[in-house]
Amino acid sequence: MTAGDTATRGQTDTGTRRRGERESRVTIAGVAVDNLGFDETLERIDALAGEGGPHYMAVVNAAKIVGANRDEELLRVLHGADLVTADGMSVVWASRLLGRPLKERVTGIDLFEKLVGHAAARGLSVFFFGAREDSVRGVAELFGSRHSNLKIAGMRDGYFAESESERIAGEINRSGADLLFVALGSPAQEKWIAANIERSGVRFALGVGGSFDHLSGRARRAPRWMQRAGLEWLYRLLSEPRRLWRRYMVGNTLFIWLVVTQLLRRNTPKKQEGKG
Ligand code: UDP
Repeated sequence: MTAGDTATRGQTDTGTRRRGERESRVTIAGVAVDNLGFDETLERIDALAGEGGPHYMAVVNAAKIVGANRDEELLRVLHGADLVTADGMSVVWASRLLGRPLKERVTGIDLFEKLVGHAAARGLSVFFFGAREDSVRGVAELFGSRHSNLKIAGMRDGYFAESESERIAGEINRSGADLLFVALGSPAQEKWIAANIERSGVRFALGVGGSFDHLSGRARRAPRWMQRAGLEWLYRLLSEPRRLWRRYMVGNTLFIWLVVTQLLRRNTPKKQEGKG
């Protein structure tokens, strides 16, 4: 399957979308990514959460974009998101190669940290869902100590049977949480959010991958200089080579292939895309 270029993302009840949002999207290998800077993304999320729910956002790296080209459900979920930003530098590089440069990388973990602070400042409550028990507890403690007025509506680990999803969404709903952060890894977290956000009753949900592990200190994040150089993937690969080498080798090669194919298609006069 080749992902299409004409996705309709995050439609409102009336099936319409604000113009600015549609114009600022860049399509990379069939996945529409919002061309927003970090602060603009935060503003957009604050506005979405202010409107009430349910809204959700996803961040994408090369592996997730490749995944969406092989997994129709993931592609649908990404197209249904209110916002999608580039979690990986390779996505930003691809946008430059395609002549539609994204302003910057807007990662899930950085948004997560800021959004929890915003929630504390605005009196919105948060729910942390995912990772191992000690990780999710650790992240709740960390944010509790950073923001003494933070309302933590609840938390739970991310190890459960598929049949428990409805019950968990009900638990989140009863907690009265406004913002939900889901750390189940990809694509499980994106699919869980799309399938359960209505039932969970939150205003806004974001999938944050391994962030609970990183912030609670269970896993280390790459040093800043490596993050800035777009080498976070190399750091992760060196930390867990056996588990990750295939994912990165195959994933990165396929990603380059998909982007180059898109570039060639666009440069073929008959099939000019030009809309990104
Ligand atoms: N995880 C989970 N439930 C599962 C499998 C994974 O809660 O059934 C958690 C895991 O403990 C880790 C996160 O999901 O905290 C996955 O992190 P990773 O960095 O691998 O995320 P990805 O790169 O897949 O987005």
